Amino acid sequence: MNYSLRLNKLRAALPTLECDALVITNLTNVRYLCGFSGSSGMAIVTSSKTYFVTDFRYQSQAAQQVPAECEVVIAREGLWKEAARLLDAKDLHVGFEAEHISVATRDEIAEVLPDAQLVSTRRAIEELRLFKDADEIAVIERAVQVIDECFEAVCRVLEPGQSERFIAQSLQDMMRERGATGPSFDTIVASGLRGALPHGIASDKTIERGEMITIDMGAVVDGYCSDCTRTVCLGAPTGEQQRIYGIVWDAQTATAQALRPALSCFDADEIARAIIREAGLVEAFGHGLGHGVGMEIHEQPRLSFLGKGDLQAGMIVTCEPGIYLEGWGGVRIEDMLLITNDGHRVLTKATKPREIIVL
Ligand code: ZN
Ligand code: ZN
Repeated sequence: MNYSLRLNKLRAALPTLECDALVITNLTNVRYLCGFSGSSGMAIVTSSKTYFVTDFRYQSQAAQQVPAECEVVIAREGLWKEAARLLDAKDLHVGFEAEHISVATRDEIAEVLPDAQLVSTRRAIEELRLFKDADEIAVIERAVQVIDECFEAVCRVLEPGQSERFIAQSLQDMMRERGATGPSFDTIVASGLRGALPHGIASDKTIERGEMITIDMGAVVDGYCSDCTRTVCLGAPTGEQQRIYGIVWDAQTATAQALRPALSCFDADEIARAIIREAGLVEAFGHGLGHGVGMEIHEQPRLSFLGKGDLQAGMIVTCEPGIYLEGWGGVRIEDMLLITNDGHRVLTKATKPREIIVL
């Protein structure tokens, strides 16, 4: 990962943030800037230096993971006290991540930095994380490949009588066998009537012939997430199952094909919503079209009727319309796409025919 590039971008943003130094405490953001994946540490970025502060338990992990451009400091009496010592904070504007610290921590900072001007910042690192660089794209593609393979593998072994939980567990085992550290969220397996639950975490219900099964899965590889959904049918589908599946497939495919830079997040959502509205089922599509994916499973941008801003090259987003009918079931199809200068590239390769997959 190119940490100097990230640190330089953040350093260049310090004047705009009206900070002389920024203290980063959100562990995902710390990992993004300093490569450290442990559970205690902070990064301090000033106009000329970057410190990574942790405690003695992580001394050797920090030595292995933190790049040379960050000076590793082992705190003896708490991270914020160490930060205060490093900052020597007279008349300094010190930024902190307002969305990621508690009121108690805010009080602690004021106590250890009595002379500093504390500046609350929002989304400073998240703005950088919106745009994936070549290294990040390569890692995310590996996380996607893991679930593409897991989907094909699970399709070969699905059988009536298996519980949703058993299937989810098998998928998560398959992810680890393929190099993932784990799932990026609790694997969703929602069969039959439970398909009407957009977030139907796998239950003890067994899958039965004639049911549709929505499988939504993601894996974490080297700190980056993947996310993909397919809906399949156990045995031949009814006309109605195929019809609803076809509407979602049309909405998903048409929208994915349209994703490109400068398309607004609202308009992207509206492409899918219009197709589902045309079919008279817009009330059954209650969530947004998709979301950014990166170090976290749900990141900016949000593609929805509440979405703000435009798609831009370098973003990785999902396209996942669905139809959920209480007392009947549901269908969702989800791909991950990289927005490129001339449009997009679909990252997920798991098979997605317009005729529902019959197992
Ligand atoms: Zn998903
Ligand atoms: Zn998703």
